Amino acid sequence: MPELPDLLHVLGKLRGRLLGRTVTAERLREPVVLRCLVHGNLSLLLGRSLREITRRAHFVIFHFDGFDLAVNPMLAGRFKFEAPGDRDEASLGFALGFDDLELRYLDDKKMGKAYLAAAGDLTAVPGLQSIGVDVLSSHFTFERFASLLRHRRDQVRVFLLDKRALDSLGNAYADEVLFEARIHPKTWCRSLTHEDAERLHAAIVAVLKDAVAEVARRDEPIEVKIRDFLKVRMKPECPRCGSRIRKAGVKGMDAYFCPKCQPATRPGFVDWTRTGR
Ligand SMILES: [Zn+2]
Repeated sequence: MPELPDLLHVLGKLRGRLLGRTVTAERLREPVVLRCLVHGNLSLLLGRSLREITRRAHFVIFHFDGFDLAVNPMLAGRFKFEAPGDRDEASLGFALGFDDLELRYLDDKKMGKAYLAAAGDLTAVPGLQSIGVDVLSSHFTFERFASLLRHRRDQVRVFLLDKRALDSLGNAYADEVLFEARIHPKTWCRSLTHEDAERLHAAIVAVLKDAVAEVARRDEPIEVKIRDFLKVRMKPECPRCGSRIRKAGVKGMDAYFCPKCQPATRPGFVDWTRTGR
């Protein structure tokens, strides 16, 4: 899944090459990817100018004259620039042509969705009705974070992934943030202390800002997802203490964490530090 740093990078590239340009061609290879909330199909975009591209949660929204196209890449979706006439990838979902440039949406899993709607009318799009506070904005103060945290009855990693609370963290950065804050992923929100909450808030901002800077510095093509600088997600050992990174299921999701730097805080956890492994 593209995460916030990936999406911001992609957004900048899309804007730079596409804003103000007019759709001259369209091709829908995988009808399952497109949901039309208006009568018609992608051909409605022909001859229309692309006025703006924005992000909300994990959606990239293309604002054309008269229509919006909101794309949620889900697990494996990604964008790619190609020259018109280049061979279609097997994973091609759809393509929009802009004269000498084609924007392709690729999706190996076919799980992502593109919603075509009348301009400004995205209320029917699942996942766009209520979006949490943008964690890279000035609205994401500690007070706001603490008030969101106060009423939660779930585990901290589940809270971090809730797009209605926070805009937004996916699996990869939830792990990185909890590692940075030294908090076990299964910790109940209500058992976090004031100091834990302060560390967690600071970690969200720091980890994401660093990642945004790193992804920008690498400046890879938009179809490339950069994950190799992450510290715990899919890594064999902790960069701080050398312990073996563990994997645990948290509400059906795999969480990666260091058992020593992120010790368990409640009975019932396996205390890996006592197993001698
Ligand atoms: Zn460690």
